[in-house]
Amino acid sequence: MIYDVIVIGGGPSGLMASIAAAEHGGKTMLIEKGNKLGKKLAISGGGRCNVTNRLPQEEVIKHIPGNGRFLYSAFSVFNNYDIIDFFENMGVALKEEDHGRMFPVSNSAKTVVNALIDKMDELNVNVQLNTAVEAIHFDENTHTIILQSGEKIETKSVVIAVGGKAVPHTGSTGDGYAWAKKAGHTITELYPTEVALTSNEGFIKEKTLQGLSLRDVALSVLSKKNKPIITHKMDMIFTHFGVSGPAVLRCSQFVVKEIMKGNKKVTMHLDVLPEKNENQLLQEITSSLEQNPKKAVKNLLKGIVPERFLSFVLEKNNVPEDLKAANLGKDTLRSIVQDLKNFTFLVNGSLPLEKAFVTGGGVSIKEIVPNTMQSKIMERLFFCGEILDIHGYTGGYNITSALVTGRLAGMNAAFEAFYTGI
Ligand SMILES: Cc1cc2nc3c(=O)[nH]c(=O)nc-3n(C[C@H](O)[C@H](O)[C@H](O)COP(=O)(O)OP(=O)(O)OC[C@H]3O[C@@H](n4cnc5c(N)ncnc54)[C@H](O)[C@@H]3O)c2cc1C
Repeated sequence: MIYDVIVIGGGPSGLMASIAAAEHGGKTMLIEKGNKLGKKLAISGGGRCNVTNRLPQEEVIKHIPGNGRFLYSAFSVFNNYDIIDFFENMGVALKEEDHGRMFPVSNSAKTVVNALIDKMDELNVNVQLNTAVEAIHFDENTHTIILQSGEKIETKSVVIAVGGKAVPHTGSTGDGYAWAKKAGHTITELYPTEVALTSNEGFIKEKTLQGLSLRDVALSVLSKKNKPIITHKMDMIFTHFGVSGPAVLRCSQFVVKEIMKGNKKVTMHLDVLPEKNENQLLQEITSSLEQNPKKAVKNLLKGIVPERFLSFVLEKNNVPEDLKAANLGKDTLRSIVQDLKNFTFLVNGSLPLEKAFVTGGGVSIKEIVPNTMQSKIMERLFFCGEILDIHGYTGGYNITSALVTGRLAGMNAAFEAFYTGI
C-alpha cells in the first residue's frame, strides 16, 4: 500500500499536519517514536499547554524574532485566530491570560492533546507510536520511509515534523536534519534560544543574589558599543550559574548571537525601576532622606526595591546597613540611583541547547515555499514546526508557528499527492 501522506513526528506541527492532510482527503499515517503524542506540547506554558496567542497577527510575527516574517503568507491561509477557532470547534474552550497567551479553560494539557487525538481518530489517520524513523529514501514518484526496525513504508508525500534539539527527552533529538540534508537542504547553524544565561561575575559565583526574583525590570542586551540591541520588560531571577526568568529567556538569543560572532562576554543592562526616570528617583529619595535625617538609609529605601537587592547595592556602595540618612554623601546617593537604574553585568554564555526551550537555526527557509511549506528542492517533501529555521519567544509563539506551518504542510502534502497520478 502507498500512503498519500506520511507525517513523521507527533508534536503540535505533526499532529496538525496529519489532521490537515486527512481533512483534505489524504490517506495519512503519523509516525511517532515515543509512546505518547504531543509530549512537548503538554509541558508548554508550565504544563497547561499554551496553544497559541491572541495578540494581533502583526504582534505575533514580531514575537517570532527568528524569521517570523516568513510566516506572513502562511498566516494569510491559517493564523492564530484560526487556531483558536480550530480548537473551539473541537470543543476545547480556551481562555486568554497575560500577554495574550491562550490556554485551555480546563488548565489541562490533556484536553488539548486528547482533542487532537480524537480528531485524528475521526479522520482515520493511522497513528504508529513507538516507531522511530531511521531514514528517508527520496524518489521521483514516491518516497520510502525506513523505520529503525528495518520496515519500509511508501508514501507519495512526506512531512518532516520531528522538531529541533531542545529538551531531547521529549523525543526531539534532531533526527530530521540529516534527512533534510540528504534531500539537498541547508541547515543553518543550530543554537539555543529561550535559554538561561551564565555569568562569571563575583556576585553570581558567590551566590549573593541566588534565588532573588525581580519583577517587571527592563533588561537589555548591549552591543560592543554599549548600545541596547534589545530590551525586554518582564521578570527575571538570579540563579547559581547566572540569570534566568522571562526577561532573560527573551534576551537570550541576542546574547547567544553576539557570542557566536566571537564576543567572549556580553554586557547586560538592568533597570530595576523602569517606570521612573533617574531624576525622579533621585528627587524622591533625596526628599525622603531629608525628611528623615535620623533614620537608617536602608529602612528608608526598603520599599523601593526587594530588600536583598537593596542590601547588595548598599554594600556595593560601601554604605553600612545602619548609616543615618543625614550622613549619606550626595555622590554615594547618585551612585546608588545609578545602580538601580543602570546596573550592568557580564554574561559569558548560555546553558546548552538541550536545556533550552527552543532551537534556533534549522532547515533554511530560503529553500521552502512560504505558502505551502514544500521543499523547493525535493518534490512532495514538506517541513513544519521547530525543525525549520524559525523560532519565537515562549508565550505560544512557537506553538503557533508549529500549528500554522503544520496546517499548510499537511494540506499541501495531500494536494500534491493527488497530482502524482499514481
Ligand atoms: C519546557 C518547554 C516549555 C515550552 N513552552 C512554550 C510556550 O509556552 N510557548 C511556545 O510557543 N513554545 C513553548 N515551547 C516550545 C514548543 O513546545 C515547541 O516549539 C513545539 O513543541 C515544537 O513543535 P514541533 O511539532 O515542531 O516539535 P516537537 O514538539 O518537538 O515534536 C517532535 C516530535 O517528533 C518525534 N520524533 C523525533 N524524531 C523522530 C523519529 N526519528 N521518528 C519518529 N518520530 C520522531 C518526537 O518524539 C516528538 O514527539 C516550550 C518548550 C519546552 C521544552
